Amino acid sequence: MTSEEIKALDSQYVMHTYGRFPVAIDHGTGAKLYSPEGKEYIDFTSGIGVTDLGYGNDAWVDAIAAQAKKLGHVSNLFYTEPCARLAEILCKRTGMSNVFFANGGGEANEGLIKLARKYSFDKYGEGRATIITLNNSFHGRTITTLMATGQDQFHKYFFPFTEGFRYADANSMESLEKASGKDVCAVMMELIQGEGGVLPLDKEYVKAVKALCEKNDWLLLVDEVQSGVGRTGSLFAFQQYDILPDACTFAKGIAGGLPMSGVMANEKCRNVLTPGTHATTFGANPVCAAAGLVVQETLSDAFLDDVKAKGQYLRQQIEALNLPCFGKTRGMGLMIGIEVKDGYKNGEIAMKLIENGLLVLTAGPGMRLLPPLVITKEEMDAGVAIMKKVLA
Ligand SMILES: *Cc1c(COP(=O)(O)O)cnc(C)c1O
Repeated sequence: MTSEEIKALDSQYVMHTYGRFPVAIDHGTGAKLYSPEGKEYIDFTSGIGVTDLGYGNDAWVDAIAAQAKKLGHVSNLFYTEPCARLAEILCKRTGMSNVFFANGGGEANEGLIKLARKYSFDKYGEGRATIITLNNSFHGRTITTLMATGQDQFHKYFFPFTEGFRYADANSMESLEKASGKDVCAVMMELIQGEGGVLPLDKEYVKAVKALCEKNDWLLLVDEVQSGVGRTGSLFAFQQYDILPDACTFAKGIAGGLPMSGVMANEKCRNVLTPGTHATTFGANPVCAAAGLVVQETLSDAFLDDVKAKGQYLRQQIEALNLPCFGKTRGMGLMIGIEVKDGYKNGEIAMKLIENGLLVLTAGPGMRLLPPLVITKEEMDAGVAIMKKVLA
């Protein structure tokens, strides 16, 4: 099918829930994607931080094919090796204690919220279920995670929402103290607010939040759905903040492009979710877990150091262009935000770059770049050259 045929068919039969760019993608290799007509795009998006190994990665493809041939699915009522091995690696590399596997970020955050409320219920009984989240956060699209999201624009249409969330300003202990109370059981945050605009929290603030949580026996919940799995140059961002959360979630990049997510708990929380209290049919799918094992094998410590170096290089190259529409860059590793100056619209900039062969994302009022972690210097240079040509 041609791009035009695909777009027409999709418009007729697929719900219009996405503000799509007028581009169809057919295949890819490395950090390059191609339309059905063969038009090339440099990918600075990874499908929103998912395809960390790029496209057509041989080890990833082979592992998926082999596992699909062997066993494509079995119920979680039975044990499988890929699930157990992936959980072991995640725990050993982070200091967390055990894992619940799910399928998407919003769903993982539902599990995180359930874990926090049950921890508190088991210990203190009812009336202590409020979770403080941060303004400008994003935690998902389910009825509960919309409410966990600290942005008013997400609290419309779908009433009644789940009760039990209060919001505090990021990087303000004063605001957090104001939101606190006897009804609180947890604080939930992204360490780098992704959808909100690639806004890293201050290290001192995160440590102070951790201390306040310990003092009150609130759980510190970290949403690493976007920042996790090597994106920031460490396996999880919390490792660069020198904290161990009580529980955290991951999703997007965990299986390099197949749907998988999860909740990890520390030792204090390892026995909170017990038989019958939480489950999901597709969770820990062996094909997804086999893909996740390839991701973990690829993300060695040396590879993660290289992610940091690539992020620095890309930010330097972009800042050196001195483009009229761009201000400073920020972020960690290959999770990069670019400030868009007054008088320019991020959506229009994205459209122009995409038309000219560079896929980028927006976040908050700025630009957001999440290239595949395997992106090469040549591919980064090609993307920067498109920025220069289109935006100078
Ligand atoms: C993308 C994202 C989610 C939602 O993940 P889905 O897989 O779309 O449900 C939740 N939290 C953060 C931080 C995200 O970036």
